[in-house]
Amino acid sequence: MEFRDLKKQYSVLKNEIDMKIAEVCTSAHFISGAQVSELERQLAEYVGVKHCISCANGTDAITLALKAWGIGRGDAVFVPDFTFFSSGECPAAEGAVPVFVDVDENSFNIDVKKLEEAVIRVLGEGEYAPKAVIAVDLFGQPADYAEIKEICRKYGLLLLEDGAQGFGGSIDGKKACGFGDISTTSFFPSKPLGCYGDGGAVFTNNDEWAAIIRSLAVHGKNSENKYDNIRLGMNSRLDTLQAAVLQVKLKAFKDHELQDINTAALMYNEALADTGLILPHIKNGYISSWAQYTVQLQRGIDRNVLKKYLQDRSIPTMIYYMKPMHSQQAFSGTHSAEADCPVTRKLCETVLSLPIHPYLSREDIYTIRNALTEAMNESRMIR
Ligand SMILES: *Cc1c(COP(=O)(O)O)cnc(C)c1O
Repeated sequence: MEFRDLKKQYSVLKNEIDMKIAEVCTSAHFISGAQVSELERQLAEYVGVKHCISCANGTDAITLALKAWGIGRGDAVFVPDFTFFSSGECPAAEGAVPVFVDVDENSFNIDVKKLEEAVIRVLGEGEYAPKAVIAVDLFGQPADYAEIKEICRKYGLLLLEDGAQGFGGSIDGKKACGFGDISTTSFFPSKPLGCYGDGGAVFTNNDEWAAIIRSLAVHGKNSENKYDNIRLGMNSRLDTLQAAVLQVKLKAFKDHELQDINTAALMYNEALADTGLILPHIKNGYISSWAQYTVQLQRGIDRNVLKKYLQDRSIPTMIYYMKPMHSQQAFSGTHSAEADCPVTRKLCETVLSLPIHPYLSREDIYTIRNALTEAMNESRMIR
């Protein structure tokens, strides 16, 4: 069994993808080919924002947004403690201080009450100026944007939506990657919409920021001439082959994949209802794109033994995430290491992500359910 079955997906989309790849090779327009701007238009339309700027990966997408805002030394950026490293790495690499905020144990997303407390605390300390919030759509479920936007408005903070895992999700019909002042996503192969290598994108309705980000992504070029460099930038482009693959995958994503992965998640919810596992909770009005299906084990179950038991039966599982951000060695000795995040600490000890993708079958889900219940009935699972 595959954790995310990209081989199966390729076998379904093979004819179209092979044809699109061959078109790019024939044209030899490997950088900035027509497929790149076509894809950007399609993505912007799908999300419902004015501008989409593609780039080399989801990490660069965050960096491009922070650079466009001029965030750096002396600035505080609020980031959930339970996320992938990039969300905190990017502001720190720009010289700002990521302030890690605990998450809600049901949604796994930033706890809005603790977010406001953290902003007030940093204001009181007077050492760093609160500038932005990086909200993450963890495991595919959008963060609580109604409340987060209210806090951003109240304290004059910019909102960056890290939608690397969130593409395709929505709140009351409004699509993820459209909630931030700037939003970003990743097309890493295993994300909800993945390419065949690295890729990412930035979304915004703001014309000025969009122009700056387009410039930054290509060595700070001016809008007319690539060899006239008006600022220091990066080399961060989505190549034409990736854009061509993504055009096929976006179509499948819209046609059936988003729906199919939600069906898989529902089947899991039913199959696992009586197992004692704590199942992922999607809020009312929210739709997840299920970057992960993450359960929480009850205290007392030895996760390593359980994971090994499943692995021995060819069921791959992952632990997202093992470590709170504030405990990562990269932040040791810095202001960022001082966070107090008991929910994140607990989640890091109890979460387990199960295989999920649009091509997961009912039989696979039953196999996983049976293995999980067998495992949990075995005394050696208990610590
Ligand atoms: C994957 C991911 C990123 C980084 O995306 P890359 O394309 O791998 O650089 C950023 N934030 C989150 C939450 C992610 O899951």
